[in-house]
Amino acid sequence: MKALVKAHAREGLWLQTAPVPEIGPDDVLIRINKTGICGTDIHIWNWDDWARKTVPVPLITGHEFAGEIVELGRNVDGLSLGQRCSGEGHLIGKKSRQSRSGKFHLDPETRGIGVNEPGAFAEFLRLPAFNVVPLPDDISDDIGAILDPLGNAVHTALSFDLVGEDVLITGAGPIGIMAAAVARHAGARNVVITDMNQDRLDLAAKVADVTPVNVATQDLAEIRGQLRITQGFDVGLEMSGSQAALDQMVEAMVMGGRIALLGIPPGKSPVDWSRIVFKAITLKGIYGREIFETWYKMIAMLQNGLDVSAVITHRFPMSDFAEGFAAMKSGRSGKVVLDWTA
Ligand code: NAD
Ligand code: ZN
Repeated sequence: MKALVKAHAREGLWLQTAPVPEIGPDDVLIRINKTGICGTDIHIWNWDDWARKTVPVPLITGHEFAGEIVELGRNVDGLSLGQRCSGEGHLIGKKSRQSRSGKFHLDPETRGIGVNEPGAFAEFLRLPAFNVVPLPDDISDDIGAILDPLGNAVHTALSFDLVGEDVLITGAGPIGIMAAAVARHAGARNVVITDMNQDRLDLAAKVADVTPVNVATQDLAEIRGQLRITQGFDVGLEMSGSQAALDQMVEAMVMGGRIALLGIPPGKSPVDWSRIVFKAITLKGIYGREIFETWYKMIAMLQNGLDVSAVITHRFPMSDFAEGFAAMKSGRSGKVVLDWTA
């Protein structure tokens, strides 16, 4: 089969021929239709410090996918051949206290497909049946291929009750933009999203009914005033990984505000701790998706009016993967989807 492989310990990915994976009794084999390119894949392409420390070479990359089941392990029931699916890319252990108490997403032995284990940028993927999420007919393969990052957005946005609340999102990357759509769908009052990349702010305003703020040229406090958010934002979703954005967010929050942190800073970053104490702010780190509560909630929302389709700005046949990665690296794209059937 064709696969996009981290074949050498240097910048790039290589389209290679690899054996079709053999499945075990508890696995399924999925024929991949569409995949999404993630920021993580860009780190792996660039071969930065994190990638060097984390990713074994060679490895088939990719973890955002939609496809169809073409083989079932002998212990697998409840799934069928030809079933369209996406799936949770975090492979969890079953031994830890967290797993045994049903908090699968907190399992410390989690391994990621396309990061630690063979991934989805290939014609076929082996996945434990446990991780499969069937796709209803009304959810397309394009959307199926971005459920992983949509799940990050949903997990973060639903961390705190935001019905009727004023929500600040820092970072209008694909996940911040989708979180804005989710916050709006879930019933937030005002949703404000910040970035300094005007293309992305324009895309945010196209995808969701939000107030975009360019922090390079606009004053967030002034916009707050215009929206009559007098005391500050009730809920903050940090989706940039930037220290400056978190500082700005803490400053803009109401007393007792709640902040969910998804963005990953590049290294250790100093926090104005006393500001958080005196403002009585709750901080919550977010990792991955809740397995499988986030999946149920996002599919239900997609079937009931949540529309994030415009966040996909580029589509390429997988043979043009280099163009897809270039679009992602340009910083001007939303989600980029590769077609493995073309
Ligand atoms: P992205 O890099 O595409 O988007 C981040 C955006 O933040 C960019 O548009 C950038 O211009 C903007 N930004 C930078 N500095 C800013 C500032 N001071 N104020 C406002 N905006 C600023 O990322 P993404 O793919 O949308 O993912 C969002 C974040 O979530 C990333 O940090 C990513 O690493 C992280 N992430 C975490 C998890 C997890 O499990 N915790 C999972 C997926 C992604
Ligand atoms: Zn991803």
